[in-house]
Amino acid sequence: MTSDMLTVPLGNRSYDIFFGEDIYSLFQEWICRFYPDGSVFVITDRNVASIYGEDIRRWLAGIPHDVHSFEPGEESKGWETARGIYSFLARGNADRDALVVAFGGGVVGDLAGFAAATYLRGLPYIQIPTTLLSQVDSSVGGKTGFNLPEGKNLVGAFHQPRAVFIDHNFLRTLDDRNLRAGMAEVVKCGLAGDAVLWKTLCSNGAGWKSMSGQEWHDVIRRSVAFKASIVGKDERESSIRRILNLGHTIGHALEQSSGYGALLHGEAVAMGLAWEVIFSRRLGITPPEVEERLFSLLREMGFALDDPGLALSSIASAVGLDKKRVASDVDIPMVTAPGACALKRVPLALLRKELPAIRAEILRRGRVAGIDPAEERKLQERIERGGHEEAAAILERRVESNPSDLKAMVLLSDVYRRTGKHAAAWEMIKEVLQQSPADAHVQRVAREIEEELHRSPPREAVAPPEPLEDVILLPEGAFEIRPADRLPGTPESPVPVADAPPPGPPIRTITMANVYWEQGEKETALRIVDEILMRDPEDHRALEWKKAHEEERRAVAALAAFLDAIAKEYGYDLSEPH
Ligand code: NAD
Ligand code: ZN
Repeated sequence: MTSDMLTVPLGNRSYDIFFGEDIYSLFQEWICRFYPDGSVFVITDRNVASIYGEDIRRWLAGIPHDVHSFEPGEESKGWETARGIYSFLARGNADRDALVVAFGGGVVGDLAGFAAATYLRGLPYIQIPTTLLSQVDSSVGGKTGFNLPEGKNLVGAFHQPRAVFIDHNFLRTLDDRNLRAGMAEVVKCGLAGDAVLWKTLCSNGAGWKSMSGQEWHDVIRRSVAFKASIVGKDERESSIRRILNLGHTIGHALEQSSGYGALLHGEAVAMGLAWEVIFSRRLGITPPEVEERLFSLLREMGFALDDPGLALSSIASAVGLDKKRVASDVDIPMVTAPGACALKRVPLALLRKELPAIRAEILRRGRVAGIDPAEERKLQERIERGGHEEAAAILERRVESNPSDLKAMVLLSDVYRRTGKHAAAWEMIKEVLQQSPADAHVQRVAREIEEELHRSPPREAVAPPEPLEDVILLPEGAFEIRPADRLPGTPESPVPVADAPPPGPPIRTITMANVYWEQGEKETALRIVDEILMRDPEDHRALEWKKAHEEERRAVAALAAFLDAIAKEYGYDLSEPH
């Protein structure tokens, strides 16, 4: 038929996935060959029927068939729609020779697949997925089902299709939001299991929407190949298939707590990927540079990484309970390198406990966004070509108008550095570090600038009007701040000493408080800020810090109270993990 196909190897339930641009003639030929005497029951939704209804009828002309369509959207993925499909099959006298065709997105595929799994104890069905998400994910693997008001996909069955037909041309009529949502699953596949796909996605970056037909074909095929290979090894998700849940533990919780339909599944998965990767980086499993790349990729693709309207307490209550399975541990896929992932068992209590810190990082990174990726690239090129003065002028204007535009600040420090203004570069990167203390990339750049500063005597006198705090980078990647008001007798040195031991007890600066806060030592952080305020009750940075963190502290306290309540209800242990 065509050489461009994949097989999902499942013994006598093995099936082929066909990729093509002329999919109708392909599936017409397939039906004539495998179901010459059967009748065909096409199930779709009204959107898809309005665009492709005529095509279906034309291609099935001569084959006994009927078409049933229901209201589009996640809200339709429930019992009433399933019942409507059963009635449609019953009215058409579907018997064991009948073939069900799921023609549409994931909602159609899951419902039609479930009806096929259960009607007359099982009818054969094929999938013709028409959204990106259904092409790269839901049409393959045999998971079918629908939602109950109590939770998503609570009713379901494993039922493998007899074949899947994938044509990327269907995506031409798909709206941007759904197309983007599908990309979240593609990113998941690259990150979890296909380093080549990951590289392709990273190199396309913000240009992903204008991929050529061939590129779409390749990206979809690689994603499907990854899923098919996993399903072939673990059809029922008893072990390795859980890798495909990367981004879904938190993604499902966000989806559920936002109320189904508010966030698209893929949008929730994109957020889930970001949140889970922060979690696994905090556990020391995901390398910081992979986390960084994922963040910029998701942002370039236009994904939001948080829904600030969702209360942490409702996310926490939804985490791990999406299948109404009350367990104290959860297996979470964690990225170990691009294209490699491992399942790690962690206490649910730990994941819940980390949620406030994860959200705080997401918020901080949100603030990092300023300059957009395309402009950043252009400026980067300009700098590479030697257009330093021009770039510096543009960047200085930017930083002046938005002192939180950390990307612009990093670029500006790079320009200063290249033009020999090491002290200015140092001051700039120091400011970035103060606003974004845990950013691995910034820490690295700062360390490089610091080394250069050591090597080269200052050419220009960038003496700040008041002594600024000095950053001392420690070899293990943390850094200390020297207070502006130096202890009497402390030698004045414009150049911090890289390996200098931290001088005595924690230094009382806001940046140091941030470091402690980030590391979860909130009491120490608060104590530092209180001490600053004792010294100077008018210190506006400290006052602002307190105001901002008080809110977070209240949220954490509310979360702790809430977790206590669940712990009592379900009887699990929320004590500190070891
Ligand atoms: P969807 O089926 O609701 O489709 C999204 C929208 O696009 C709908 O309005 C639909 O009418 C429209 N549409 C579909 N194809 C179109 C086309 N070619 N042109 C224009 N419009 C088109 O949503 P989805 O994102 O495809 O799937 C989401 C569902 O998939 C969720 O319910 C999720 O739980 C499920 N899912 C299942 C699995 C699985 O393994 N079974 C995996 C992932 C997701
Ligand atoms: Zn998914």
